[in-house]
Amino acid sequence: MSYRGRFAPSPTGRLHFGSLLTATASYLEARSQGGTWLLRIEDLDTTRIHPETTQAIIRTLALHGFVWDENILHQSRRLALYQQALQALNHRHLTYPCTCSRSTLQQQARTGAHGLIYPGTCRHRQAVPDGRRHAIRIRVPDRDICFTDQVQGLFCQNPALALGDFVLRRADGIFAYQLAVVVDDAAQGITHVVRGADLLDNTPRQYYLQEQLGLAQPQYAHIPQACNAQGQKLSKQTLAVALESNQALASLCRVWNALNQPPLQAGDFSSVREFWDHAIRHWALKRVAGTLRLAQAF
Ligand code: GLU
Ligand code: ZN
Repeated sequence: MSYRGRFAPSPTGRLHFGSLLTATASYLEARSQGGTWLLRIEDLDTTRIHPETTQAIIRTLALHGFVWDENILHQSRRLALYQQALQALNHRHLTYPCTCSRSTLQQQARTGAHGLIYPGTCRHRQAVPDGRRHAIRIRVPDRDICFTDQVQGLFCQNPALALGDFVLRRADGIFAYQLAVVVDDAAQGITHVVRGADLLDNTPRQYYLQEQLGLAQPQYAHIPQACNAQGQKLSKQTLAVALESNQALASLCRVWNALNQPPLQAGDFSSVREFWDHAIRHWALKRVAGTLRLAQAF
């Protein structure tokens, strides 16, 4: 099967150092295997996204020399597909309406490592009282869901203990990331997902949805979060430093070095194109391990 990878930014803000790191890892892994690399804009959360940011992200990627195959997919134009998936799960009696408000949950639910653990309040509800706003949740099994990540190794999570039944469609009608990502990874024939380790603990939920929807399961590689030279995790603010378009080569080299590849400097190359030619030939995912350290603080 030929390799198909993707980068799937949410246009909630401009492309920053942290996202360049995962974009680069996913691009190099795809290209070094002679694979296809796709760009998908995850713009479902209309309360958080800014349309002009989508254009800024696409521009910044192009300036950094990324070349994507096929048309860019915009999740906001694919709502019918997510609705279909929701219906398929509904036919299997896996979903139910939930009318719990955030404040009720805050009072009733325990907090686990990934936030509030849904206590199952509405699990046995059949129908919703007329017109009442409600989210749609999926029942999760009380068993470990395990997968082997190419970078992180074996990862297991019991979704019932870790988070409880999770939301597929929010009360405001917005489809959840978990559902959309699974539908689109399958629709785009993605064989390999390379993304940030902040999403590692989302993957068992995605595995579960893939299982229930009868979808193929990609291989996953979760790239560690970057740290400073002292090993301290970079704050969101630090990681979120916007990329300077006139510093593309320097940013790429910095990202490359942070990914534990044989060190490079901007001065080694006369163009971004030359950087990519070299990087694609010398990239090895297996060097990405543990924590990533940045030589310089920002
Ligand atoms: N859109 C998600 C984000 O920007 C990433 C989705 C993914 O790579 O699975 O965090
Ligand atoms: Zn509920």
